Amino acid sequence: MAPKRDYYEILGVPRNATNEEIKRAYRRLAFKYHPDHNHDDGAEEKFKEINEAYEVLSDASKRATYDHFGHSGTDGFFTRGFEGFDFGGFGDIFDAFFSGMTYAARHAPQRGADLHSKLTISFEEAALGCEKEIGIRRIELCSLCHGTGARPGSQPSRCPHCDGTGRVRRVERSLFGRFINTTICEQCQGEGKVITEPCPQCRGAGREKRERRIFVEIPAGVEDGSRIRLSGEGDAGMRGGSPGDLYVAISVLKHELFTRQGDDVIYELPLNFAQAALGTEVEVPTLYGKTKLHIPPGTQSGEEFRLKNKGIAHLRRNGRGDQIVRLRVVTPKSLTKEQRRLFEQLASTLSPRKEKDR
Ligand SMILES: [Zn+2]
Ligand SMILES: [Zn+2]
Repeated sequence: MAPKRDYYEILGVPRNATNEEIKRAYRRLAFKYHPDHNHDDGAEEKFKEINEAYEVLSDASKRATYDHFGHSGTDGFFTRGFEGFDFGGFGDIFDAFFSGMTYAARHAPQRGADLHSKLTISFEEAALGCEKEIGIRRIELCSLCHGTGARPGSQPSRCPHCDGTGRVRRVERSLFGRFINTTICEQCQGEGKVITEPCPQCRGAGREKRERRIFVEIPAGVEDGSRIRLSGEGDAGMRGGSPGDLYVAISVLKHELFTRQGDDVIYELPLNFAQAALGTEVEVPTLYGKTKLHIPPGTQSGEEFRLKNKGIAHLRRNGRGDQIVRLRVVTPKSLTKEQRRLFEQLASTLSPRKEKDR
């Protein structure tokens, strides 16, 4: 940023200028650089500079601060920015000037709001993918008038107040003389058209709240806490703007047998002593139905077996994870008399030391 110019220099007055001299210099310069009739490059900047200088020098205490400390003393005066200034009696002119600047912003097409919804699915649905329907409430273009706000068959007519231009020219009288200001037509809000017969369904709004069932395709492999975006399924836009998006947050329920580890499924298989020691053939549940698993003799608790491609689908690429079968040898908590006798008999044949050495 360029260093700030001296306020007296900006207004072209001596440092001992009277209030009357400052006021006269300000009027002359503000008129000269007012953006309504001066379209030169830099005129607007100059206009702001002049106003800032006047803001300080026309106020006795601000002027005194400025005289003592220069710009560093007055910085705090402008924290609200240019538009926050109190222009006193000139307010109407500046209002018109600024409303003109925001005209385009207020009347441009506006995108509809994004909507957010939640969906809870089962472990299997997340692993294998599924199709769901969710209920939402959103703003849509009125189905009867298709957003025009006018009764079907009737046409919005040209606004008589602004003759269809959306703007009204107004002559302002002020200290600086006469200005012609252009403002937004209040009758038609700048649209240039007025509805003579409002649509009976939306009462002229052109939009209405609707309950909708939305079809959501959940890709296989989706994780708990992920979000799916449905483009264009949010609220309708304004003045021809595009609709917003719908975001669906996914929660995945816990499974009673399986847990997820990346794209692998962990399954814990309980085995008794005899099965672990002698080996066995068991049926293991997977996401894709039951499958046989051969347990070799002498299997230890905690040992894992991998069932290839029986895991969860990879979300953004082909293939699947595995199912990991983790064995847990379960010690019986109570024994029948017969079982106890057999265990004792078995125990007498096992050497504890040898077991420890393994
Ligand atoms: Zn309507
Ligand atoms: Zn109008």
